[in-house]
Amino acid sequence: MNERMEKIVSLCKRRGFVFQSSEIYGGINGFWDYGPLGAELKRNVKVRWWRSMTQQRDDVVGLDASIIMHPKIWEASGHTATFSDPMVDCLLTKKRFRADQIEPQSGTIYHFSGAKDESNGKSCAEAYSVLIPTGKHPEYARKIARQFYVGRGLTVPALLDERTEEAINTTRFNPENGSLLTEARPFNLMFKTFVGPVESADNTAFLRPETAQAIFAQFKNVLDVSRQKLPFGIGQIGKAFRNEINPRNFTFRSREFEQMELEFFIKPDEIAAKSAPKADAAPGQPQPNWGWSEWHKYWVDERIKWYASIGLDQDCLDFYWQKKEELAHYAKATVDILYKFPFGTQELEGIAARGNFDLTQHQKFSGKSMEYFDEEDKSRYLPHVIEPSAGVDRLVLALICHAYNEETVTDDKGKSETRVVMKFHPRVAPIKVGVFPLLKNRPEIVKKALEVRDLLRPHMTVFYDEAGAIGRRYRRQDEAGTPFGVTIDFDTLGEKPELLDTVTLRDRDSMQQTRVKISELVPLLLEKIR
Ligand code: ATP
Repeated sequence: MNERMEKIVSLCKRRGFVFQSSEIYGGINGFWDYGPLGAELKRNVKVRWWRSMTQQRDDVVGLDASIIMHPKIWEASGHTATFSDPMVDCLLTKKRFRADQIEPQSGTIYHFSGAKDESNGKSCAEAYSVLIPTGKHPEYARKIARQFYVGRGLTVPALLDERTEEAINTTRFNPENGSLLTEARPFNLMFKTFVGPVESADNTAFLRPETAQAIFAQFKNVLDVSRQKLPFGIGQIGKAFRNEINPRNFTFRSREFEQMELEFFIKPDEIAAKSAPKADAAPGQPQPNWGWSEWHKYWVDERIKWYASIGLDQDCLDFYWQKKEELAHYAKATVDILYKFPFGTQELEGIAARGNFDLTQHQKFSGKSMEYFDEEDKSRYLPHVIEPSAGVDRLVLALICHAYNEETVTDDKGKSETRVVMKFHPRVAPIKVGVFPLLKNRPEIVKKALEVRDLLRPHMTVFYDEAGAIGRRYRRQDEAGTPFGVTIDFDTLGEKPELLDTVTLRDRDSMQQTRVKISELVPLLLEKIR
């Protein structure tokens, strides 16, 4: 992990954004817990997604489905047969890797046809190879090979038929020790469990690897109750589970994570094309005659605007249009929205045009019609779908990485120090405002500060802090990413009569302080955090 990432991970633990799951027992790989600040941050992300994707639109409704569903769902979706990653094992240590994530390496391969035990004449005829950097002493390769044959039951192995070969960009060897890996085998990523008291094949079920399938399976029920007409969408936020071979990059690739998914159902192009465009629609606003590519572009734009609204503007994002040969067989187009993480530019969200694949499959496997009756066109058909699918945890990690700043600041006495400040957008910041009585031993100041806290609390998350020097209290909130600080001082009590009932409002990023009337605080802050 690079230095910046190490600092971020350490801040996450120190300040209570993210903890390792089950840490007191040594942790469990691929699982994470959100501490007090992380829980607020994550909640803010989900609330904003939900609000913008469902509550603020007429054409999207919500769903909250179960995590364990009928196993037929995963047969229909294709997950049982094909939701797998290629896995390889180290022949020496048994460590497992995702074959497609092994960095290509170059060097000299030492091949051995087998080994003979010098102590007892036993032998092992299994061929084995080791890759070492060219020029490194051959003994390194031989040492690894001898360990391998010890693992195969020999006590003092003498290596047989050593020969070398130069390799360029091979992915057949363990990058950590040079040992040969097994051939790649598919590994299904779904977590299995049993439903009911009997552990049998009939009772096997899976923890959902994505939230989307429940939306397809409930399409008809939602359609019946919501009085929606095409085009319309169903959104869902919830946990998903994937038994990732190599969880890594902190929370980026976890085994338990949350998704925010929208399935937006549209008319097939040939039906939509029959509708007349609206004369008065604003540019970029949906038109009844839009086909899948317009809708797809619309949702990509909407999602980019949404990321900007929480502080991730286009400069820190990247976009990847999957190439034809990379697309799933049913997909017409997929755009990945990527964030420039300290460990590389990686996917936050995929926006796919999935045709009518999913509804077709569920219709076939359930035997129930998934068709939509189009009153305008007087026809029945399977809707097509555009799917913006985002990961909550990846987004939270992007927001944390983006917020992390180190600045050198100089105090009144000319002393410089490093200020660590989490510059979250006020809309997602875990705590919106810190409230500080200047002195904790002046009851009249403390009383006023508590009044200010209680005034703000119904509207936003407030942290009240009276412990320590005011500068230190500001720093603590800088690290938590609290965008505003309100300090109650003698002027608040009317020491300068013209300042009675005013407070200082400190801005986290500029560290500027302004004098504000207490009566104006709520509207002023709400405007910035809404
Ligand atoms: P990747 O290629 O990184 O494994 P994916 O393309 O398989 O991801 P999707 O199946 O499209 O991912 O899932 C949609 C979103 O769910 C992803 O964009 C990501 O934000 C999130 N997601 C998927 N897998 C994980 C994971 N293991 N940990 C955290 N988030 C994940």
